[in-house]
Amino acid sequence: MIVVMSSGAAKSEIDQVLDRLEKLGFQIHLSQGVERTIIGAIGDKKILSEVALEAMPGVEKVVPILQPYKLVSREFRTNNSVVRVGDLEFGGSRIHVMAGPCAVESKEQLLETAELVHKAGATILRGGAFKPRTSPYAFQGLEEEGLKILAEARERTGLKIVTEVVDPRTVELVSRYTDILQIGARNMQNFFLLKEVAGSDKPVVLKRGLSSTVEEWLMAAEYLMAGGNYNVILCERGIRTFETYLRNTLDLSAIPVAKHLSHLPVIVDPSHAVGKWQYVRPMAIAAIAAGADGLLIEVHPNPAQALCDGPQSLTPENFSALMAKIGKIAAVMGRTVD
Ligand code: PEP
Ligand code: MN
Repeated sequence: MIVVMSSGAAKSEIDQVLDRLEKLGFQIHLSQGVERTIIGAIGDKKILSEVALEAMPGVEKVVPILQPYKLVSREFRTNNSVVRVGDLEFGGSRIHVMAGPCAVESKEQLLETAELVHKAGATILRGGAFKPRTSPYAFQGLEEEGLKILAEARERTGLKIVTEVVDPRTVELVSRYTDILQIGARNMQNFFLLKEVAGSDKPVVLKRGLSSTVEEWLMAAEYLMAGGNYNVILCERGIRTFETYLRNTLDLSAIPVAKHLSHLPVIVDPSHAVGKWQYVRPMAIAAIAAGADGLLIEVHPNPAQALCDGPQSLTPENFSALMAKIGKIAAVMGRTVD
């Protein structure tokens, strides 16, 4: 539930409400605005009917949160959340583009890509060091060596980095190197991984599961927030449908829906959604037009030689062309890319 304190509520009145809720075992989330204080309280609904919170001095109203996800819900927080990654802000007026190869393959490959995507206007470099591959015989990633290469690329370019964490046992290791932790589609409902990442101080990109409903996706985000990590960026990356021509079907409608139901920033990964580079640009443009706060795009200096996801990777030239288009559509949407 949400307890809205009246605009003139005294500090002692706020403290009394907090004290009462804490004694009743509620988890408290305090939001002190300029106008008024709002107290979010998560706990046993049944107790609610027994406590006359509305009668306490300074309380204006008590609003129940009806959705199963609470902290994630738009009912909990009406304003858009802004997730900070160093000096970058997700969910504000600026659109951020994360770009880079599917996997870190070598120092040369990653440093070259980093320079190129940086020049084209990306603010974040992506690259998998631990790869969740469908086949056990496919390239599994350079692991810690890949993380070191990512960190070196950050040093050289100033780009922030995002990389996937696949195992609760390596959250600490990956967090030592990266600026953003990515939870992949295959792991969206790995609740043990979610709980571990919830304890990290790194912002998280949470991809929507291969066959997950929006509600399941938001419940996964709730795991992160309930565990204390409020810096969650949702990422739509396509879902399984009866259509098999493309790798997945990009659910563009999930952008306005997730933004309606939740206050969290939403980005889109058109690369994994379509699986073919030719369709990445139109879907990236459509995502920004539908209100996405950012994009995640796979770029490889030589897609034909890529160890992973070459067919969907843009060449640096195509990525530059995409960035130019994104700049234009962003302006139409009243947003910027730089
Ligand atoms: C990736 O970003 O490289 C990846 C594996 O994506 P997804 O989890 O969306 O398949
Ligand atoms: Mn990939």
